Amino acid sequence: MAEDNFETALTCLKKSGAKITQQRKTILKYLINSHTHPTARQIYNDLNQKDRSLSLATVYNTLEALIKAKLVINIDDKKSNEHHFDYFGTPHYHIICDRCGLIVDGHNFEFQDLLRQAAAESNFLVREAQIEVHGLCPNCQQAVYQK
Ligand code: ZN
Ligand code: MN
Repeated sequence: MAEDNFETALTCLKKSGAKITQQRKTILKYLINSHTHPTARQIYNDLNQKDRSLSLATVYNTLEALIKAKLVINIDDKKSNEHHFDYFGTPHYHIICDRCGLIVDGHNFEFQDLLRQAAAESNFLVREAQIEVHGLCPNCQQAVYQK
């Protein structure tokens, strides 16, 4: 399953005109298999252990190419000012804790209906959507509301 995703994503990245290197493939594979919404620094720390020649600059320019190819999205944590990255081959939405920054994936949502309705209402050609639901995670609810 992840292999299929990888081949499809790689084709998509090539089509976008991006240069394909072994390190870029490694970063793409890592993001497809990651469900933790890492920052660039976390991606670098994890992958540099196996490949010391990988630089933070390569992580950043690969992320840029993956975002341009619409394979990866950037999620801003407004509180910590950090940027998290997420493979977005399968559209989903994010439920974000405003206290600790936890990001949980949501899949139980019909995206196509929303996009169709948005297009119908605005006459826009809708290309993408990034949806965030904000609140307090269970741990933070305990911390805030329990004495
Ligand atoms: Zn929290
Ligand atoms: Mn996600």
